[in-house]
Amino acid sequence: MESDPGGSAYRLLPFQLRLQGSAASRGIAIGKAVVLSAPHVRLLHWRSIAPAERDHEIKRYQDAQRQLLESIRASLASAPTIGDTHAIIESYEMIATDPLIVDSIIARIATEGMPAEVAVSTAYDAHIHALAESNDPFLRERRFELENLRRKLVALLLSSDKSALPEVRNAIIVAPSLLASDVLHYHSRGVQGFITEIGGITSHACIVARTLGLPAVIGVRSATTIIPDGAEVIVDGSRGIVIVEPDAPTRVHYTTLQQEQQIAPPTISQPVTTADGLPIAVYASVDTPDDIPVALSHGADGIGLVRTEMLLVRVQHFPSEQEQFLWYSAIAERAYPKVVTLRVFDVGSDKIIHGMPDEANPALGLRGLRFLLHRKDLFRTQLRAILRASVHRNVRILLPMVTSVDELTATRDLIEAVKAELNAEQIPYDEHVPVGIMIETPAAALLAEHFAENVRFFSIGTNDLTQYTLAADRTSDLVAHIFDQLNPAVLRLLQYAASAARSRGVELELCGDLATFLMATDLLIGIGIGAFSVAPSYIPALKERIRTIRYNHALSLVEQALQKSHSAEVHALLEQHSQRSSHQSQKL
Ligand code: PEP
Ligand code: MG
Repeated sequence: MESDPGGSAYRLLPFQLRLQGSAASRGIAIGKAVVLSAPHVRLLHWRSIAPAERDHEIKRYQDAQRQLLESIRASLASAPTIGDTHAIIESYEMIATDPLIVDSIIARIATEGMPAEVAVSTAYDAHIHALAESNDPFLRERRFELENLRRKLVALLLSSDKSALPEVRNAIIVAPSLLASDVLHYHSRGVQGFITEIGGITSHACIVARTLGLPAVIGVRSATTIIPDGAEVIVDGSRGIVIVEPDAPTRVHYTTLQQEQQIAPPTISQPVTTADGLPIAVYASVDTPDDIPVALSHGADGIGLVRTEMLLVRVQHFPSEQEQFLWYSAIAERAYPKVVTLRVFDVGSDKIIHGMPDEANPALGLRGLRFLLHRKDLFRTQLRAILRASVHRNVRILLPMVTSVDELTATRDLIEAVKAELNAEQIPYDEHVPVGIMIETPAAALLAEHFAENVRFFSIGTNDLTQYTLAADRTSDLVAHIFDQLNPAVLRLLQYAASAARSRGVELELCGDLATFLMATDLLIGIGIGAFSVAPSYIPALKERIRTIRYNHALSLVEQALQKSHSAEVHALLEQHSQRSSHQSQKL
């Protein structure tokens, strides 16, 4: 193998190296690594600027700040209008122009004579330190954004030459961490994937990578030191694996896998039925009005889940009724005449908003409907906004984290009170707006027949139902082997809720991640699921899968699955069944 002509420490590894990180954005990318090291800056030894030159130094900072804002705005202009991208980039602009930070930088230059890069670095450091100390996980994660902005500003001040940036087309970026605007920037320059040393799965950079379909693995410790610049790397964003200098069989294996994943099934815009004619709806789960056209272009029969709390996570306060009304109306109007399911704010647990109580076990605390019934003022505002947006009669209301019939009764009372207010104010709305509950706690599943008397639909949230049934944190790697949505205990609860729904004529839907596990689709249809809600990109494959299913076979599969005592047996059964079905369809 050739040595690096540039004479750096780069030497290709003698054999392939496998690194484990966290799966942040699914898919496979293969390319040459471009390793971005932290800027090589010397900020520790500096000499005070003479008072007469400080105005000039302030101007030097302001020029760099202007360039930074221009690059952020350029990212904003080129950002796709899907997902949370625009709001994320806007938040960088807000941080960079935050008067608290800007004023403290200028004060450090004017009064202490700090060089601009030192003033920037220390001012940002103070804020980063405060965020790192915060009890609020959301705030702690935001510090990565400040770190990146600091890095960029310092690099600009040290006049790092942008034209010297390496060629990145078809490359894999390896970096300590990345901003969402970096992800957009590199995407526009043809980058194939990302590897970072730090960052949370919920960081904005990961959200943008997922929206753009760019494979990413995060949390690969010392990646920028271990991975040589220019080495060939494979990013397996579905399993959180990075392979450096793959051997020939590994490369062939991943290239085949990558090709298989790139063959997207054709979009089916019409509603589908099973092979023997049972209609099954396939809805999209979305966050924002901008996601609706994407969902419809993927063939969504409606919107089965709008996580309205993402609006709160984005703006970090509870928006006014009018602000919410505009948001919900935009969703309902863009999807019209298709149905739209607005789930009321499921805040708490890992979706933290400023001002919420700090709890030792937030997943078991004041989450979802519990929080809203605790803060009826906020709940009333949201219900008013949703009801006003229901005027075209395609809106449904979905209640998260329900555990008792009392919670449903209290909510129904509040809905009636809000309707009475709207009547008194002569504000139009859908008087028959359907109300449903999430079945995502064992209590909700076991009391399903009582809930069924008062709701029009159930939406099963298998992510939380699994977490609460198996007492396994859905966000923890350590109990990932216990967290299995096909565990027989979870299946029994599904079956129990399904039979209550069937006997009371309540529609039964499923919006948890299990809906995307296509090997389980026939089992779920056999249990009685009449509609699935999945991320838009999963819709075509799910519709194709449904068309191959025979309801009678699905029923016998359920009978066998419910006799199993272990998750592994259920998986084996589904595997056998899928092999048998594919043999049969090959014979036909
Ligand atoms: C679920 O719990 O399965 C669900 C769909 O809701 P979320 O993932 O938003 O908690
Ligand atoms: Mg849930």
